[in-house]
Amino acid sequence: MEVILSGVLGFCMGVRRAVELAVEESQRSADSGFPVYTFGSLIHNPKVLASLKSCGVETWQDTSDISSVKLENCSVIIRAHGISPSAEKELAGRGCRIVDATCPKVKASQLRVKELSQEGYSLFLAGDAEHAEIKSIIGYADASAFCTVVANADEAKNAADSLYKTNSGAKTALLGQTTISQDEYDNIGEAIKKYFPNLKIEKTICAATNERQKALRELLTKVDAVIIAGGRESANTRHLLAIAQESGKPCALAESSADIPENFYTYKTVGISAGASTPDSVIAEIEKRLCGG
Ligand code: SF4
Repeated sequence: MEVILSGVLGFCMGVRRAVELAVEESQRSADSGFPVYTFGSLIHNPKVLASLKSCGVETWQDTSDISSVKLENCSVIIRAHGISPSAEKELAGRGCRIVDATCPKVKASQLRVKELSQEGYSLFLAGDAEHAEIKSIIGYADASAFCTVVANADEAKNAADSLYKTNSGAKTALLGQTTISQDEYDNIGEAIKKYFPNLKIEKTICAATNERQKALRELLTKVDAVIIAGGRESANTRHLLAIAQESGKPCALAESSADIPENFYTYKTVGISAGASTPDSVIAEIEKRLCGG
């Protein structure tokens, strides 16, 4: 079997930075003896989380209520998805050291939402309302602003229709989750423009996401089947899987080599693409197994 790797693999800048900051913080706390927590999973990859845990970095999974958690002298790492200003304020008031690993691209979206909402724009956020990045970004909107999350063009049409009925002259802007696919974002924009032709469309999709998706599309033209290496909880990994599924070629998501479907060993050429939070070691392990190692 021939295994072909996608032209874009490995951690993206935001994930690499977050992991490096966590490792640095664990080294600092080893001297002081203070605990280090991440506010939610630092990245959506179980192997990386296990490795961070072995360095003393604990994942704080339930972040919905932090009032009963003792935080004095702890370090709390804010992950690449960021958190809302109100959650950050609460942490700051509890005596912990905050290490902000919010990806600079997510930070730019957060600040843009703040700016636009203060300028009186009604905002549409394209993405998954339950995703931590969208929750962090929406927290930056001015409290009085119209700000709604739409997952697809149908939802965008309904939201635009309802805003139009109450405020047909609204100034509107669209921002998206950094990992949304360009096609989905364009479709959402078109749906809103039918009601608000002057919609301001912000370029919030991360270039790293686009490049990874483009590289996968190229890879799909060269292989019989494709493995998407990455965590099941990772939004950008799931988007890659959706792109592979649209191609009609056999595809599978694998968190490790144990997830490679048996029939994949019968193909002549298998491609490997990977999410932005998939470490090189996992990609190498999957490649080795496919090659009979
Ligand atoms: S995919 Fe882009 S926006 Fe998301 S963490 Fe990586 S660099 Fe940042």
